[in-house]
Amino acid sequence: MIYAANFKTNHTRSGTKRYLEELQQKISGRNTADRIFVFPPFTALDHYEGDYTLGVQNCYPVRKGAFTGEIGLEQLEEFGIGTILIGHSERRQLLHETQEIVAEKFAFFQQENFEIVYCIGEPLEIREQGDSAVVEYLLAQFDGIDTAYGKLIIAYEPIWAIGTGRSATVGEIASTHKVLRQSVSKPILYGGSVNPSNIAQIVSIDNVDGVLVGSASLSVDSFYALITA
Ligand code: PEP
Repeated sequence: MIYAANFKTNHTRSGTKRYLEELQQKISGRNTADRIFVFPPFTALDHYEGDYTLGVQNCYPVRKGAFTGEIGLEQLEEFGIGTILIGHSERRQLLHETQEIVAEKFAFFQQENFEIVYCIGEPLEIREQGDSAVVEYLLAQFDGIDTAYGKLIIAYEPIWAIGTGRSATVGEIASTHKVLRQSVSKPILYGGSVNPSNIAQIVSIDNVDGVLVGSASLSVDSFYALITA
C-alpha cells in the first residue's frame, strides 16, 4: 500500500522536522512493502533520510529563471527531491491551473525522471450527473498526460470529499477505481477525508493501491494510525 501525506500550507520548518523524526522512529524496522510519502511545504525542505519519500506539492516547470515567486528544478535538486504532486484540485481550482498547464508540468517532470503523483477528481455537480459524466470528466484530466509513464501514481480525489469530512462511499470508490484501472495500469490512490476510522475499509476496496491524505496526515499519530490500520 502507498500512504501519502499532503501537508498543504500547514506545518513550519521546525514542525516538519519534528514530524519526520517522530514518523521515522515509528516506522523504522517495519518489514513491509508499503511506501510512505510526505509532501511538506517548500520552506520545510531539507536533507532528510528515512523510510519515507519526501516530495513537493508543486513546482514551476523550469530549471531556473525569471519567474518571481516560483520554485524551479534547481531549488529541488539542492534537497535531492525527485517526487512531485501534479494536478491537485486545489491548484486546479484556486490557482487556476488549466489542463494545459498541468500537462506542461507533467511533461517537464517526466522528462526529469521524477516520480509523479498525478491527481484527478470531479466536482459535486458532475458526481450528481451520474457515473458516465464522472468517467468522462476524469478521463479528460488525462488529456496531454502520458499515462504509460513508468514513475506515475494516480490519485483519485473527488473534490467534494476533500477536507469536507465526507469521504466517497465504498461503492463510489470501487466503481470509479475499476473504470480508471481499465484506462491506466498504474497504482491508484484514493483521497478525500480518509481518516483512522475509514482507512481499513478504504484500503480493502479492489483497485485501491493506497491513499493520499490531507487533514488526517497533519498529526503524526493520526498518519501512523492510517499506516498501521
Ligand atoms: C487532499 O487534499 O489531498 C486530501 C485528500 O485532503 P483531506 O484528506 O483533508 O480530504
